[in-house]
Amino acid sequence: CWGNIKDRGKAINAYISVEDKDYLQQQASEAQTRWFKGQAKSVVDGVPIAIKDNICTERMTTTCGSKMLEGFESPYDATVVKLLRDAGALIVAKCNLDQFGMGSHNVHSHFGHVKNPKNTDGHFHFSLESLPSHQRSAGGSSGGSAAAVAADLCFAALGSDTGGSVRLPASYCGIVGFKPSYGRISRRGLIAYANSLDTVGILAKDTHDAELIYDILSKYDKQDPTSMLPSMRERIEQEYADYYDKMDLDSLKGVRIGVPQEYRVKELDESIMEIWRMGIQKLQKLGATIVPISLPNTQYALPAYYILALAEASSNMARYDGMRYGHTAEKTTSDLLYADARTEGLGAEVKRRIMMGTFALSAGHYEDHFLPAQKIRRLVQTDFNNVFCMPNPLLDDAVADLSNASKVHAIITPGAISTAPLISKCIPEVDDPTQHTSVKSVDGFIDDVMTVPASLAGMPAITVPAGKSTVDGWPVGLQLLAQYGDEKTLLHVAKLFQ
Ligand code: GLN
Repeated sequence: CWGNIKDRGKAINAYISVEDKDYLQQQASEAQTRWFKGQAKSVVDGVPIAIKDNICTERMTTTCGSKMLEGFESPYDATVVKLLRDAGALIVAKCNLDQFGMGSHNVHSHFGHVKNPKNTDGHFHFSLESLPSHQRSAGGSSGGSAAAVAADLCFAALGSDTGGSVRLPASYCGIVGFKPSYGRISRRGLIAYANSLDTVGILAKDTHDAELIYDILSKYDKQDPTSMLPSMRERIEQEYADYYDKMDLDSLKGVRIGVPQEYRVKELDESIMEIWRMGIQKLQKLGATIVPISLPNTQYALPAYYILALAEASSNMARYDGMRYGHTAEKTTSDLLYADARTEGLGAEVKRRIMMGTFALSAGHYEDHFLPAQKIRRLVQTDFNNVFCMPNPLLDDAVADLSNASKVHAIITPGAISTAPLISKCIPEVDDPTQHTSVKSVDGFIDDVMTVPASLAGMPAITVPAGKSTVDGWPVGLQLLAQYGDEKTLLHVAKLFQ
């Protein structure tokens, strides 16, 4: 089984490193004994789980998909990894990703592209070299995590979602990608891309499996200053208790689901529109009331995201100085040490983003770019607060509006504007950050248009497989969103919908 995991993982390039065979066997047999004795640590005791390689693990390396951290061994396990190990899970491998989480198609990894393991005939192909037509993007940046789950190389995988990196690959690979509310799951040990947006997310075959992992990870962590406080967790439970108690677990009766008109962007494929329509009908059949809603600032979310995320990234990346850890240039001089380490260690996309982020923060441009983007972020949050009947627990004066028929419990949108594109269409022609010709890199930003609004607002969101495109037969995911902190409603809707 281990050999299988390793070989198949290699064929689709899902894994950057795989755990030692003997160690895994030992762990697995200990778990088996616990199950026989009726002493299993949790439902995932002995279950194989893979981890995106920007999440620190004491065993195996943590590379962030970059030469800069090639061979880096973390001195500690991220809180999420520790929680999984404590629950008995087997951490089997570290998953490929776009360098530092920057990308949408997993084509910006120092360790090569991840290939989408799905095929239109429903079978997996593990020798993809001979089948160029199957070399589709697995999505990014958690492409390795999504591909590993889709190809049955693990039960579930952790990814990180800053602007959609869990949800987009899940849509492309026909699996579930769940990004909980910002702060629900600890970020300690998740290597920062854009701190105010970064969230650990879960990739799994279905919503039930994702929920199992979520229940293990959704804990307050005092070592993460942005972790949702226990008092907030309790407040959410208490405030919604009445509503949750009345929730009909077998249907969506009494649940109002919003369809935001602004998500009908011109880039949206007709085949995705069709599945969106079918998804809405399915929700209706399950008893939900469909409500057309408006989120007027959605159109500004994508540019605002790319200013804020890149600005934060440019400051986060300053720590890679070639001195404390990470790549050091061999032939360098003391005054060029920093520049040489970064020139050699960081990939083209990362450099491009550092430049754009630094520009947005620089004197004179800060007011023109960064500040307006911050304001848009607030407007996007307000849009959501205006349509949800659940109050946003982050706002002191927010009140529930449960009986208002124009307000909704959840929202449904497409998960992506198209099915998985060909990898060849995602690779910049000239991957040189100093050249203007790499327009494709910016073109790729549009693929995040469905997912970034929830990231800016910190809302929980999940993409679930909803069918196959009638045009190319590839999987299509739809996205469900709920109010900040309202994972319960979100998972309830997703479980019935899938
Ligand atoms: N594609 C988006 C970006 O490159 C999102 C990445 C992510 O969520 N890590 O910023």
